[in-house]
Amino acid sequence: MIDAQVPDGDIESLWENHRFNLKLVSPANRAAYKIIVIGTGLAGASAAATLAAQGFGVDVFCLQDSPRRAHSIAAQGGINAAKNYPNDGDNIWRLFYDTVKGGDFRSREANVYRLAQVANAIIDQCVAQGVPFAREYGGYLANRSFGGAQVSRTFYARGQTGQQLLLGAYGALMRQIGKKRINMHTRKEMVDLVVEDGEARGIIVRDLVTGEFSRHAAHAVVMASGGYSNVFHLSTNAMASNASAIIRAYRKGALFANPCFTQIHPTCIPRSGHYQSKLTLMSESLRNDGRVWVPKKSGDPRPAAAIPEAERDYFLERQYPSFGNLVPRDVASRALKNRCDAGFGVGSEGQAVYLDFEAALADGGQADMDNKYGNLFEMYQDITADDPHKTPMRIYPASHYTMGGLWVDYNLMSNIRGLFVLGEANFSDHGANRLGASALMQGLADGYFIAPCTIANYLAGVPRSSVDTDSTIFAADEQAAKNYYQGLIGTGGKTPVDELHHALGSVMWNQVGMSRSATGLQSALTDIEQLRQDYASNICVPGKADDLNEQLEKAARVADFIELGDLMARDALARNESCGAHFREEYQSTEHEPVRDDQQFQHVAAWAYQPQAPARLEEPLTFKYIKPETRSYK
Ligand SMILES: Cc1cc2nc3c(=O)[nH]c(=O)nc-3n(C[C@H](O)[C@H](O)[C@H](O)COP(=O)(O)OP(=O)(O)OC[C@H]3O[C@@H](n4cnc5c(N)ncnc54)[C@H](O)[C@@H]3O)c2cc1C
Repeated sequence: MIDAQVPDGDIESLWENHRFNLKLVSPANRAAYKIIVIGTGLAGASAAATLAAQGFGVDVFCLQDSPRRAHSIAAQGGINAAKNYPNDGDNIWRLFYDTVKGGDFRSREANVYRLAQVANAIIDQCVAQGVPFAREYGGYLANRSFGGAQVSRTFYARGQTGQQLLLGAYGALMRQIGKKRINMHTRKEMVDLVVEDGEARGIIVRDLVTGEFSRHAAHAVVMASGGYSNVFHLSTNAMASNASAIIRAYRKGALFANPCFTQIHPTCIPRSGHYQSKLTLMSESLRNDGRVWVPKKSGDPRPAAAIPEAERDYFLERQYPSFGNLVPRDVASRALKNRCDAGFGVGSEGQAVYLDFEAALADGGQADMDNKYGNLFEMYQDITADDPHKTPMRIYPASHYTMGGLWVDYNLMSNIRGLFVLGEANFSDHGANRLGASALMQGLADGYFIAPCTIANYLAGVPRSSVDTDSTIFAADEQAAKNYYQGLIGTGGKTPVDELHHALGSVMWNQVGMSRSATGLQSALTDIEQLRQDYASNICVPGKADDLNEQLEKAARVADFIELGDLMARDALARNESCGAHFREEYQSTEHEPVRDDQQFQHVAAWAYQPQAPARLEEPLTFKYIKPETRSYK
């Protein structure tokens, strides 16, 4: 049984009291402590900037040539906070309730309440940084609605909210780089975590340009390396998003929590061919004004404009009258898939539904719509050559976000002392399904407000003596990393890395994707084992290890995706219930809604690495404030 270290007390004052009880490091002593931060997305950049501003010495690592190019830059629709500016009945309790319910009662109450509390401060922080959130005519910050909520609490900057938030965090990071409190290491990949006596002591890094390896020591390591949706090969994530940092920490003893909780987003541009390498999201914010429909007649060949109103099935509005088009992502994705599977899909493959703006355009006018969604409309037209002002968008679900990740306690520390995990890389506060606009909220809550307090508390108990990389463990880990990368080169195999990634993606999408069954998962485990063997015997990595070599980088990341795919299938197989985005076909109601088993599965599943087969541990979840109920959006 795992202990999440949640302090006792009333949930409303828990974080405030805990913060008071956390130890501080004297400002005079902070520079003596070194902290490594992996990642410069919203979680990593905000944590690094805040820790450095407090006076700690920080080393930051990222894969891209600029910290500003982290995947967070792509986030579109917005960030939640219960400011209640529209006066529509929102408050911290409602955001807390919506998030716990949205996650289908598989998240930790204390963490979620803290997240809802801290969210308001994030908006203030970002406004102070100059983030240009959309405003009403009178100058007040504007809000819009997102799935899973009946209030408008999402702050946004057109369809570029992540970009504007990351520019804010990046500005704060650059300020500390200018003050020489942060050493920034771009184009550097963390390839191993160094653990000594159960404590994170540092990392091994490969320079992506020269292939050189180096050792870095610190008093604490912060991992903010993002999510792992690219395990599905095609996803809405950036091409560089990967699972390697967390999988390598997992191999060093960090627990991996709820790996099978992955989110499929309903509104993406459908895939169009075998050689496609990436999918494009159309933000959930579009469901504020867009109506989802399919023709009432199966296989109807007419173009959308030729189908009269009476012959359209607005199936989300029909099935879920309370929330309509704004049901949460897991609910919407399943409903879309069901319609397409039943033969009502549109487009050449019948694998899409319409997202139609006709009514909103008629109501608010084009200028109003372009103010809110202009860049999304342009992006859609660039990719499909269809103008959504004139013809409905065609959309289909795609892999998008991962609720699973490294297990952390209330202080965001993993079971390895001194290893903190933030943002999408941790198993997070979203339970079995994340609500839209809540990832940016969580990443920035972790980075600006929570981790800086809890890391300081940890450091206050660690000797200030300087750290070094001279130990035999550092030397052995560096040598093992060199051998591993060198060993991938020139094996004489014939299969390109992308082909294996593609094959893994098909297994994951078909058997471990939106809908899962015991038979499918067992067959996925066999297929993944076969892929593992193919990889070992026939992988082809051209070029050299001591040079810029993207195929080599990919080969190592695909090996980690294979290991993760196996873990996800095991986790999904062991969880004999449906909850949130984890939909097991055997556990559904007559109306195809998920059926949870709170008796057996009201817990976090945390997997411990073992060379033969991973071990499944449990962190029980208790719900003192929000009584688990059947989740309904009808
Ligand atoms: C298209 C899209 C739109 C989205 N829109 C929204 C939205 O509107 N609202 C919302 O709340 N959420 C949204 N999300 C989700 C949200 O964007 C992400 O969950 C969030 O940005 C993740 O931030 P992060 O800081 O955890 O990681 P990331 O931004 O992914 O950053 C990861 C960092 O880790 C570094 N890194 C990774 N591995 C290594 C390694 N081994 N060594 C060194 N560095 C490494 C990378 O270089 C990068 O700097 C969206 C997601 C997508 C895909």
